[in-house]
Amino acid sequence: MTTTTGTIGHFIGGKTIEGTSDRFGDVYNPSTGEVAAQVALASKAEVEAAIANAQEAFAGWAATSVVKRARVMFKFLQLVDANRDALATILSNEHGKIHSDALGSVQRGIEVVEFACGMPHFMKGEYSDNVATSIDLYSMRKPLGVCAGITPFNFPAMVPMWMFVVAVACGNTFILKPSEKDPSLPMRLGELMLEAGAPPGVLNVVNGDKEAVDAILHDSRVKAVSFVGSTPIARYIYATAAANGKRCQAMGGAKNHMIIMPDADLDQVTDALIGSAYGSAGERCMAISAAVAVGGIGPDVIDLLKPRVEALKIGPSLDPDSEMGPLVTAEHRARVKSYVDMGVEEGAELVVDGRDYVCDKQGYENGFYFGGCLFDKVTPAMKSYQDEIFGPVLQVMNVEDFEAAIKLPNEHQFGNGTAIFTRDGDAAREYADKVEVGMVGINVPIPVPLSFHTFGGWKDSAFGDLNQHGEAGVRFYTKTKTITSRWPKGIRAGAEFVIPTLND
Ligand code: NAD
Repeated sequence: MTTTTGTIGHFIGGKTIEGTSDRFGDVYNPSTGEVAAQVALASKAEVEAAIANAQEAFAGWAATSVVKRARVMFKFLQLVDANRDALATILSNEHGKIHSDALGSVQRGIEVVEFACGMPHFMKGEYSDNVATSIDLYSMRKPLGVCAGITPFNFPAMVPMWMFVVAVACGNTFILKPSEKDPSLPMRLGELMLEAGAPPGVLNVVNGDKEAVDAILHDSRVKAVSFVGSTPIARYIYATAAANGKRCQAMGGAKNHMIIMPDADLDQVTDALIGSAYGSAGERCMAISAAVAVGGIGPDVIDLLKPRVEALKIGPSLDPDSEMGPLVTAEHRARVKSYVDMGVEEGAELVVDGRDYVCDKQGYENGFYFGGCLFDKVTPAMKSYQDEIFGPVLQVMNVEDFEAAIKLPNEHQFGNGTAIFTRDGDAAREYADKVEVGMVGINVPIPVPLSFHTFGGWKDSAFGDLNQHGEAGVRFYTKTKTITSRWPKGIRAGAEFVIPTLND
C-alpha cells in the first residue's frame, strides 16, 4: 500500500519509504472537501538520494536488451489494464473527475505503453553500407541516463505515462515528481512497474514541491527534464534546465478555440461544446474554453447551450449520475471564481452563473464544486479571455467571417489545441493549414493525438522542440552515436591532410 497512517511517502529504489523532511502537503478528496492524506514533500537530500538510486540502476538497465525492456512494458500493460478500475477510483478520489472520465485518461496512458511495447523497432538505428570503399556508416540510439518528469494535477496517470514509459523503454532510469495534489496514483504506477519486472531504481517517484523540482533541475546527474503544467512554471523549468545543460521539453497552459462556421450542424456543435468545455470541470489542457461563432450564429449557439449548461449534473466524482465533478482544491475554485468575476467586470455577459453552486447531497456539501458558467460577448481585449481559466467556463465570441475567426487563435499567446466545426471542406482545410496551433480538430472537439503520433502545442503552450510520445518522444529520450567503420582491407593510404570526403 502507498499510504501509511494517512501519509504518502516516496517510491525510491523499489521501496515505498516515508519522507524525512518533516514537510507535508494536504491531499484532499475534492468531492467531500476533506483532507484525505498528507503527502511528504521531499527535501533536496531526499531527491538526491533518489537520483543516486536511479543513477546506480542506469548501467544495468541500459545494458538490458531492448527486447527484454519491451517485455517489461508488455507486463506493465497487462497490470495497468487489470488494475484500470482501481486506478481510476484513486484518480477520481484525489482529482475529482468522474470515474468514467478517469477511466478514459487511464486508457490514454495505456496507449502509450502499447506504443512503448514496440520500442525495439524505434531503437533500430540506421545503417549505410559501403559509403566509400570498405567503409560502413551506422547510427545507434543510446539512452541518456537519469531522466526526470514533473507533472500536473489534472492527469496523474496519463501525463506521467507519456514520460516515464517512453524514457524507461528507451533504457533510461527515471525520477517522477508528480503533482502534490494527487500523488497516490503515480505511487501505484511505481509499484506496478516494479511488479512488471523493472529493476528497483528504474522508476522512482519522489513527491514534493518547488524544493524537489529545483533539486532535480540543479543536479548534473539528471540529463533530461520533461515538464507539463502551467506556462509560468514551464518557462522557468525550460530556462533553468537549459541553463544547467539538460534537454528539456516543457508543456504549458492553453486557451483552445472552437470555430463554429455558419454551415455547422449546431446540435453536433452543442454536444461537442458541452463535453469539451465542461468535461473534467474544464481542467484539461485541451478543453475548449473559447467558442467563436461566425457570421451571426452566436444567438443560436447561446440558445442551444444555455439550457444544457444549466442542466449539467454536478456531483461527487464516484456518483455514476454525475457528469461533472468538483474542482481540485478550494484554492483553485477561488481562482476560477475570480476569473468569472473579472469577466463580469470587463463587460462580458454572464449567461449562466455557476459561481454559487453547492452540492446538496449529504456528506458532499463542503466539496469544491463550481457550477458551469457561460459567457457571451467576450472580446479579445478582456484579460479573462487572454488568460487560462482552467475551470468549467466557456467564453463565446462573435465574429463576422472566417478571417476574423482565425485571427483569434493566431493572435492568442497560447497555441495548444483548436477545432473547427463546418461542412465546408475548403474552410476546414484552410483552417488546418493556417492556424498557429499545434493540434487541430476538424469536427473533433478535443484533438488529442494517439500515442504513435506526438502531443505538443505551439507558442506559450510548449517550450522545447520535441513533443511528448511518438517518435519525437523516442528522440527526446535518446541520443545518437554515429560510427564510421573501415576494416584493415580498406586501409591503404598514409596520412591524409584533407577532410575525408569518402568519394572513392
Ligand atoms: P503547475 O504548473 O502549478 O504544476 C505543475 C508541476 O510543477 C507540479 O508538479 C508542481 O509541483 C510543480 N510546480 C509548481 N510550482 C512550481 C514552482 N514554483 N517551481 C517549480 N515547480 C513547481 O500546474 P498544475 O496546476 O498542476 O496543472 C494545471 C496546468 O497544467 C494548466 O495550466 C494546464 O493547461 C497545464 N497542462 C498542460 C498540458 C499540456 O500538455 N500542454 C497538459 C496538462 C496540463
